[in-house]
Amino acid sequence: MKNTDVAIVGSGLSSLVSAALLATEGVKVSIFEQNYLPGGCTSSYWRKGYTFDSGATTIVGFDDGMPMKIFSEKTGIDFKLRKLDPPMQVHMPDKKVLTRYNDINKWMAEAKNYWGSNEDLRKFWEEMYKVSKDVWKVSGQQIQFPPSKTKDLLSLIKNFQPGQLKLVPAVFKNVQNEIDNYQLNDLTHFKQFINEQLLISAQNFAEEVNKPFGAAALCYTNYTNYYADGGLMGLIQPIIDYLEENGVELMLRNPVENIVKTKNGYEIISKNGVFRSKYLISGVPVNNTVQLCDFEIRKSNNSKILPSEKLYSAFQIGIGFKGKLDFRAIHHQILLDGKIPELDAESFFLSVNHPEDKSRAPEDHSVANISMHIRNPGNTRFDKEAVAKRVLKELDERNLIKRDSVDYLHSSTQFSWEKWTNRAFGFVGGYPQYHSIKPWQMIDARMDGDKAYQCGDSTYPGQGIPGVALSGMIAVEKLKADWF
Ligand SMILES: Cc1cc2nc3c(=O)[nH]c(=O)nc-3n(C[C@H](O)[C@H](O)[C@H](O)COP(=O)(O)OP(=O)(O)OC[C@H]3O[C@@H](n4cnc5c(N)ncnc54)[C@H](O)[C@@H]3O)c2cc1C
Repeated sequence: MKNTDVAIVGSGLSSLVSAALLATEGVKVSIFEQNYLPGGCTSSYWRKGYTFDSGATTIVGFDDGMPMKIFSEKTGIDFKLRKLDPPMQVHMPDKKVLTRYNDINKWMAEAKNYWGSNEDLRKFWEEMYKVSKDVWKVSGQQIQFPPSKTKDLLSLIKNFQPGQLKLVPAVFKNVQNEIDNYQLNDLTHFKQFINEQLLISAQNFAEEVNKPFGAAALCYTNYTNYYADGGLMGLIQPIIDYLEENGVELMLRNPVENIVKTKNGYEIISKNGVFRSKYLISGVPVNNTVQLCDFEIRKSNNSKILPSEKLYSAFQIGIGFKGKLDFRAIHHQILLDGKIPELDAESFFLSVNHPEDKSRAPEDHSVANISMHIRNPGNTRFDKEAVAKRVLKELDERNLIKRDSVDYLHSSTQFSWEKWTNRAFGFVGGYPQYHSIKPWQMIDARMDGDKAYQCGDSTYPGQGIPGVALSGMIAVEKLKADWF
């Protein structure tokens, strides 16, 4: 039996962040990963000379006070990234293209161009941007949120700034309340635009997403967006190198099968043997964590586990094609005029390689990742050929990717996600935002009230690169506060 200080289940971004932070403190860390590659939903894979991203394609979180910036300052890891401007374009149902400029004033001018001169529209975006800035400021300051021990409350008080109170009433409002407030319901395609933009960042629609999280999601493009050469593997490779330099053991193809609680810690029963650890961090979703543990997790967390009906998976299409995209951005959201009935979907998302990154496709070719949501993945079945056909038609008609330029294509459903990440029902993208669940009621990092902790996109604040990086930081902060 091998011994380690902290056993970490999974090598998704949340796990990698927590492992690196512990390594900076000289703690002995062992990571168990079931896949043959690290990174989970923030990774890349190779097919027929193309490098595809496994899940995430857009990168934010490196601006001052944001999680990846704090993480890179704490570890000294130097991420080599390209800035993107404009970060994204949105293709409207009427086929007009809206550019989501990084600069908020330029974006508001673009919105005015499309929706017409409207003072309330300007005020809506100004308000969203202001709130989003407050959200990121508070998240970076309150690293022991949500509180579950007196020491967290003391830390909250210690780090309290008067401005933070502004967010409390906002949490009781949803994005739809703001649309009503500014009387924007009747603007052409406005609600579809807001809902689909929310869906990619907050995993839910205007009626469900609270104002602070909604503001952060809607202003995603107003923070610096980045691209990593080589795809998302280019983002996580520097963390993996750092772990290796600092003696962290990363065991690939080594799934954890069971975790037993012992007098002094935990026994991790993995495919390649049994490990004994003092502490445990689970970076797999809480739905999976409960299956692995032979001990009970805290009732306050257990009661919040979401069923398949409340979750999403992703239908993905990977395309290798001749030539390059003839648009200003590399990320595109396509809003459909009419739903894709098989998936009840009103949009899909397209990302291609940066034109200067020649490492991901053969010469004169490009690589594209396309994804859309699959609601209730445990119970949804659909004809993937029919959906892929509809997507290709849209891409062709909108002059994004012409059908005759396609060199290679493959598609995958929730079943591929289940294989790639082992996640329950193949659900991905994190726990969606629900208005009935306030931020302080989200799943907390303290898993069993003892020496086990939880991070990843099913916990607070979840979702996306900045969210899961912060969840990894919070798990480490709480572990340190409790035991070191
Ligand atoms: C299609 C798609 C598009 C997305 N787009 C974006 C985007 O553009 N920008 C953005 O910021 N975010 C995006 N996201 C969200 C983001 O990728 C995820 O929220 C984030 O990567 C999740 O990280 P995680 O650490 O929580 O979990 P995961 O990435 O799921 O990592 C968990 C790891 O644990 C491993 N594992 C599971 N079970 C076991 C076991 N028993 N033993 C050992 N290992 C195990 C898995 O193999 C996996 O590697 C997207 C997600 C998807 C699916």
